[in-house]
Amino acid sequence: MNKNTIYKNIDLKNFNSWKVGGKAEQFLICDNKDTLASYIKTRKIKPPITFIGLGSNLLIRDGGVKGAVVIMHGGLSVINRENELIYVEAGVSCSKLAKFAAKEGLNNSAFFAGIPGTIGGSLAMNAGCYGSETWDYVNKVLMINLNGDQIVRSRADFKINYRDVKNYNNDESFLAAWFNFPEGNKEDAEKKIKDLLAHRKNTQPLNWPTAGSTFRNPIDNFAAKLIEDCGLKGYQIGGAKVSEKHANFIINIGNATALDIENIITYIQKIVFEKKNIQLFREIKIIGEQIGT
Ligand SMILES: Cc1cc2nc3c(=O)[nH]c(=O)nc-3n(C[C@H](O)[C@H](O)[C@H](O)COP(=O)(O)OP(=O)(O)OC[C@H]3O[C@@H](n4cnc5c(N)ncnc54)[C@H](O)[C@@H]3O)c2cc1C
Repeated sequence: MNKNTIYKNIDLKNFNSWKVGGKAEQFLICDNKDTLASYIKTRKIKPPITFIGLGSNLLIRDGGVKGAVVIMHGGLSVINRENELIYVEAGVSCSKLAKFAAKEGLNNSAFFAGIPGTIGGSLAMNAGCYGSETWDYVNKVLMINLNGDQIVRSRADFKINYRDVKNYNNDESFLAAWFNFPEGNKEDAEKKIKDLLAHRKNTQPLNWPTAGSTFRNPIDNFAAKLIEDCGLKGYQIGGAKVSEKHANFIINIGNATALDIENIITYIQKIVFEKKNIQLFREIKIIGEQIGT
């Protein structure tokens, strides 16, 4: 796929970690933020505009996505040090940021190594693990709006919660961020990354198409435990299955449709509510149209 070329009707299956979903009406991978801004300004790409990173927290419905889809991974990929901060564009993978910061002798970035998404997706989700979250280390961000204007915003312009980020300026998306990690030690930081990745490999079904944790953990509880206690490990609808290794992960065993995955999500919510009286809320985002709508 050529960078900066606008395509029509592109299959999105290869652009999300569940490997499902329909087509994008317009499709773009852009490697320069000013080019992207001019495409938006001149309406070469038309709203609604959906930004996708690595699609690792995303269910794209089988009927596809209306408007323009901008894929950030493989597009905006600059990362560099600016004094005490790290400037990183939205399409850079989280693991690259973790390794870059460690090499710079900075601490606390290891948690990013296990998140298989981009910086843009992690800013949108406030992704995190092992007690750390993306926004703990954000100094400021660069946004783009539907007029193609680029705006620097501070943390105060957002309401940040567990896996939830409310942008007070609704029609803006992330182009880049400046991160502030504390000074540390290169060897320690690199060892932390290695240990974390080994732990993940043992506890998560990383060899299957999945979007990681499907549901947020309810207060004082764990979604995986609730699902397991309801006897749902291994439960299957079509090609979608509740992982035997981690009950909050739904895996595509080969031929799942987005509808299979959406149906199993609804089923899990129903059973957990009936048996435990607890409402599970989705962590993953759902976009696009169902077939026939
Ligand atoms: C095996 C596995 C393990 C995982 N482990 C974790 C974990 O430990 N912790 C955790 O928090 N998550 C985890 N995840 C989920 C996922 O990796 C994170 O949520 C990640 O931050 C999503 O990044 P992404 O680039 O893939 O976002 P996408 O899935 O592409 O997008 C997610 C949402 O962000 C929006 N978005 C993407 N880019 C932008 C942008 N530039 N501007 C505005 N909006 C944007 C999308 O429209 C969508 O609504 C895991 C997923 C998998 C598959």
